[in-house]
Amino acid sequence: MPERKLFTRQIEFEPTNHCNAQCVFCPRGDPRKKGYIGFETVKQGVALAKSAGIKAFKLAGFGEPLLHKELIEHLRYIRTEIPDSTILLITNGSQLTPELFEQLAQIPVSRINISFNGYDQQSYEMLMCGLSFHKLVAHLKEIAAHNRGRVNIQFVPILTRSFGLAEVEKMKGLLTGLGFDEKNFKFHHVITGRSGKLQNEKLLDEAYAKSLKDIEIKDKSKVVCLAALGNLFIGWNGDIHICCNDIYGEAVVGNIKGLKTAEELKQLEDKNLALRAGYAFDVCRQCDTPLLARHVKVGDQLFTELS
Ligand code: SF4
Ligand code: SF4
Repeated sequence: MPERKLFTRQIEFEPTNHCNAQCVFCPRGDPRKKGYIGFETVKQGVALAKSAGIKAFKLAGFGEPLLHKELIEHLRYIRTEIPDSTILLITNGSQLTPELFEQLAQIPVSRINISFNGYDQQSYEMLMCGLSFHKLVAHLKEIAAHNRGRVNIQFVPILTRSFGLAEVEKMKGLLTGLGFDEKNFKFHHVITGRSGKLQNEKLLDEAYAKSLKDIEIKDKSKVVCLAALGNLFIGWNGDIHICCNDIYGEAVVGNIKGLKTAEELKQLEDKNLALRAGYAFDVCRQCDTPLLARHVKVGDQLFTELS
């Protein structure tokens, strides 16, 4: 029988689970110890990537990556070790000064996704509590003027009941006024129950909530969740979570320390799939993602969940 290929296409590092915001749609209360990823963990992840032929990295996790003081050093290391890799950074933008952006552009990172919800000070600061609308907007204006197409910048709003497609259009108007254009608005995320951690139904977009109710899968255990199987999630302490939806680290399937070769990664993937299929963890039992068939429809548009 021919050897199966690896599922993993991307390594996600969690630089930290500290965050300086308290967004209303974020499942806060992570009981994990808070911390910052060490250089050694990044090196172990990159070594695995080299041995398994993985060339995509995502710096995200459940906190604000730009709070990590050595993040630039880590990014430079990834770029130097695997020069043709794609590097995606996800940020709330609060620390993204024009100077820091310039450092990121020189590495270069391939794409920066900025989590952005709002179209004016009131709407923004109501949703992304703790962050300053005016500070971010002033920085973004300078960044738009100096980027010159070097970094693919994407604004990624989360669709909630109070921030739907009409509000996204207003948001686009604001950002266009700052110098961005249509190619900077590719992604939307529809908010989900986040593996049972976000129970606030009032936040859910009505169309999305309805689409969940319409799904007629009586027995979830007949569905094996394949969400984000191609994304190896490495928490700040090196733990490998079952997927990037395991916010509290309740479904840890390994640690990067013990993972050096493509063969070991394949074994971990097999273990991960078996645990998913058996609904071994509460996070999977309480998760709405297996019911989504990977896509949800809001209005006339189709959105990919956990892209
Ligand atoms: S910026 Fe991200 S991690 Fe921080 S509170 Fe908002 S959604 Fe949560
Ligand atoms: S069921 Fe949810 S928590 Fe479990 S693997 Fe799928 S997306 Fe992740």
